[in-house]
Amino acid sequence: MRPVSAEGVRAEQAVSAPCAATSSEPVRPPHPEASPWRPRLHGSVEVITGSMFSGKTEELIRRLKRALYARQKVQAFKPRVDVRYDATRIVSHQALAVDAVAVATSQSLEARVEDGTQVVAIDEAQFFDRGIVDVCERLANRGIRVIAAGLDQDYLGRPFPPMPELMAIAEEVTKVHAVCTVCGAPASRSQRLIAETSTVLVGGAEAYEARCRICFVPRDDQRTVHEGDDDPTLVERRPLPAE
Ligand code: ADP
Ligand code: MG
Ligand code: ZN
Repeated sequence: MRPVSAEGVRAEQAVSAPCAATSSEPVRPPHPEASPWRPRLHGSVEVITGSMFSGKTEELIRRLKRALYARQKVQAFKPRVDVRYDATRIVSHQALAVDAVAVATSQSLEARVEDGTQVVAIDEAQFFDRGIVDVCERLANRGIRVIAAGLDQDYLGRPFPPMPELMAIAEEVTKVHAVCTVCGAPASRSQRLIAETSTVLVGGAEAYEARCRICFVPRDDQRTVHEGDDDPTLVERRPLPAE
């Protein structure tokens, strides 16, 4: 058998890779940086989205831990408005945590990204100003892998800016689901349980629960049916304070 060196394998791949021989299209010369064995520095934006309790932060932490195993330089950020659990760490509902810097604006996030950082993680991205979209774009253009987790909908089920824009510029969008606390189906919405009409109400299980499309009742249109009524999907299982 003919011995094959690493160089030989590469040379064969280089010859066999372009399969334009069967087509009449002119063969374009490869991009000078497109060598299969000298990968280009690829930045990208990944978005992890879904309702509350859907595991966005867990998934973000999972991806970060893998990057750390690969000895990549990672920086994690969260908006200063989100002080649930911990001011300097990203913490999931199951108490998984990674160190993070709390920043007030997208501008201050960008200013804190250090030279040599390969992965930038952003949790609760929906609480950032719209500038976060351009910041993610610029970071990715610098070759950084940006992973942003955030709610896709607010407490009324409306798209939660700037997540729609962030999803649009992302290379990859992962939608995760919680379990509906009423019927057990996959949940895509965050049911607000307390009377408060501001869009930003940072809270955990005391203020929200995960619901599917059918069991979700926007708080502005609250229909409360009590235990024992015919349709169990409309039962509010917690007493709600008066408006
Ligand atoms: P998110 O960041 O999307 O709010 P987290 O990653 O912080 O979610 O938390 C996900 C964890 O929340 C799950 O692993 C589970 O332990 C817990 N949890 C609590 N309520 C629910 C629910 N209704 N459906 C799924 N997970 C839930
Ligand atoms: Mg979270
Ligand atoms: Zn349901």
